[in-house]
Amino acid sequence: METTVRFIERMPRTSQVNSYRFTRPPGFSFQAGQYVIVGLGHEGMLVHPLSFSNGPQQDFLEVTKRMTGSAYSQYIEGLYPGDEVIMKGPNGDFSMADISNDIVCLAGGIGIAPIRSMLVDSASRHDRRRITLIYGNSDDDDVPFAEELEELQKMHLPGFRVTHVLGRSLGKMQACQGRIDSKVIRSEVTADLQEATFLISGPPVMVREMEEQLALLGVSSSRIRVERFLGYT
Ligand SMILES: Cc1cc2nc3c(=O)[nH]c(=O)nc-3n(C[C@H](O)[C@H](O)[C@H](O)COP(=O)(O)OP(=O)(O)OC[C@H]3O[C@@H](n4cnc5c(N)ncnc54)[C@H](O)[C@@H]3O)c2cc1C
Repeated sequence: METTVRFIERMPRTSQVNSYRFTRPPGFSFQAGQYVIVGLGHEGMLVHPLSFSNGPQQDFLEVTKRMTGSAYSQYIEGLYPGDEVIMKGPNGDFSMADISNDIVCLAGGIGIAPIRSMLVDSASRHDRRRITLIYGNSDDDDVPFAEELEELQKMHLPGFRVTHVLGRSLGKMQACQGRIDSKVIRSEVTADLQEATFLISGPPVMVREMEEQLALLGVSSSRIRVERFLGYT
């Protein structure tokens, strides 16, 4: 489905990551974790797939983009309230809606976007499932949604726990140092690794690394769901 929406506002998440909110046309629905093809510029000529980062119950549509200096980044950054944008979708089947057992999410950087959508959705449903998020970023100055994840953990989702993994740390956040690997997964996940369902989201290289680490832990590929953010290395 192709639909025209209007830009509402920009929400800075870190110095390099922003969310962009758009009007939600009547009757437009999506499932937490899905993405949309966002067309910018003349007749929507500049296109990228972007995951919804907000909950499906909210009355706006939100995507979250890492600023890279690309033409696309510059264009989305230059939107004014009321500007028209073309969206095609929703697309994709990256979801935790049908999972009844324990869930482990492995997110790399901006790969948090669809996971955040699912967590907002879960909070609005008073979800009591055990959900563990292991969230990797390069440093603690650039962790999108860090405060919100803490709040979800403390206030809204009794079964939710987040572990941060940082390449380098300035000591501002409690975090494991390094990269997400089988050792971190084994120590941070209290659920049975053979029974849990894993959701991996991030750049293709990160997704491949995570699949390799889960294979080392004996996790069956049938228990792994992935969203590859093609376009990032
Ligand atoms: C299902 C899905 C969901 C995504 N969700 C998000 C999101 O929520 N937030 C986010 O920041 N990014 C997301 N991405 C990645 C996003 O679509 C862009 O590719 C990425 O943001 C890089 O774009 P850029 O404007 O920064 O750089 P650009 O310079 O536009 O792109 C960088 C390089 O990647 C190539 N490229 C760009 N897009 C694609 C593509 N879709 N497939 C193959 N090659 C491509 C370009 O040709 C270029 O060589 C998602 C990608 C997919 C496939």
